[in-house]
Amino acid sequence: MSGCKGVKRMQYISTRGHSRPLGFADTLLTGLAPDGGLYLPNEWPRLTRETLEKLQGSDYGEIVLETLLPFVGEDFSRDELTRLIQDAYAQFRHPAICPLIQLAPHLHLLELFHGPTLAFKDFALQLVGRMFAHILEQRGRRVTIVGATSGDTGSAAIEAFRGLDSADIFILYPFGRVSEIQRRQMTVPDDENVHAIAVDGDFDACQALVKAMFNDEDFRHQYQLGAVNSINWARIVAQAAYYIAAGVTLGSPDRQVSFVVPTGNFGDIFAGYTAKRMGLPIDRLVVATNQNDILHRFLSSGHARINAVLPSISPSMDIQVSSNFERALFEASDRDAGCLRALMEQAQTGEMMIPGSTLHQLQEVYASGRASEQQTQDCMAVVLKETEQLVCPHSAVGIHVARSLRNETSSPLISLATAHPAKFPDAVQAATGMIPALPTDMQDLFDRKERIMRAPDDLRAVQSIIRERCDR
Ligand SMILES: *Cc1c(COP(=O)(O)O)cnc(C)c1O
Repeated sequence: MSGCKGVKRMQYISTRGHSRPLGFADTLLTGLAPDGGLYLPNEWPRLTRETLEKLQGSDYGEIVLETLLPFVGEDFSRDELTRLIQDAYAQFRHPAICPLIQLAPHLHLLELFHGPTLAFKDFALQLVGRMFAHILEQRGRRVTIVGATSGDTGSAAIEAFRGLDSADIFILYPFGRVSEIQRRQMTVPDDENVHAIAVDGDFDACQALVKAMFNDEDFRHQYQLGAVNSINWARIVAQAAYYIAAGVTLGSPDRQVSFVVPTGNFGDIFAGYTAKRMGLPIDRLVVATNQNDILHRFLSSGHARINAVLPSISPSMDIQVSSNFERALFEASDRDAGCLRALMEQAQTGEMMIPGSTLHQLQEVYASGRASEQQTQDCMAVVLKETEQLVCPHSAVGIHVARSLRNETSSPLISLATAHPAKFPDAVQAATGMIPALPTDMQDLFDRKERIMRAPDDLRAVQSIIRERCDR
């Protein structure tokens, strides 16, 4: 089906400008650009008003399809994509996939935790895993997925790739620093291609090991390493769909809406930006941070120093360097790759200062707020009292920030609930006195046998585990 009536094939360019543009499937398999940059579409496709109006009455799968089609070029046909989407979201536990519930006048909660591993990461990874498998099969290739996790990404990625013939998946997590549920979600799958490795170190150590493996050219090539961390463009675009779903539910395109997003690596909120560029009338995109508030400080002043990470009760947001923020900077600097290269070099010194015009453009798009540990706990208690809902600590960070903005916008605020409360039972119990129940189909998680594999914080040791497992 070549030359689709003059529609140009979508190409993806690097934020650092020194990698050649790729099509969708190659961007999917490549992840990080060879020049160290992140891929973005060379232009933003727009959904017409008629399409958005049509989506008001559509189910979630149709919304995902319309969101993805302009991005995939000829790498997936409409029928193939429809089938993958149907399979991906058939695993979810709620018929609405991402139900929108009202907490107060003008304040809504978008529940993104009904997927297999109870966090929003399932929305992207369930689909991206299937897209990987499809392309690999087409090309007769295999990959070795290697990733580091502070908890949620690892479990969602394992759930998405387990049992595939075309991929092995190795997830490095910090020993003793993930919740028991997160650990069990990674260690109980008994599929032969799943390998969860507990590293004697923290999350940064895990991430450094993964980076080092990608920088080892021979190793990377021999084992055909692939990555599914949140810099993968396909993950972002898959998430843009739930912004559109929530917007049309509340009356877009005729009504503006605003979103508050509990933020760590900036992937989720950049999906909101993508929806905005595609034509969803988004009034405000609000970055909500916990006490690790570097993004809030940066968006307020254009200047920030990178501090040590303070462990919090919302651990999936305990981040200082948000990799996807590079995409926002690229957009706000009018896609000036030279400027991005200079800024990223500056960031290596532990401090970053951006030009006034770039800050101004960032502030036109993003607002920000923070919640302290106490405010997060208080918010969980208030939400329970007012609405009888239990929310996870990450979701509570968002709701706290949303409540503080309630009188400042006329558009309805949609706060994203990024994980199920039962994934963080200790924090929820400490704040509310209630123990959140796991979905009934997951209650055997504590009875199933775990496979625990430990490794020292040492590149050679981890590489030899991977060699041994792949060369079987
Ligand atoms: C990953 C995660 C976040 C942060 O999302 P980013 O896309 O990294 O900004 C927030 N909450 C939960 C529960 C998560 O798992």
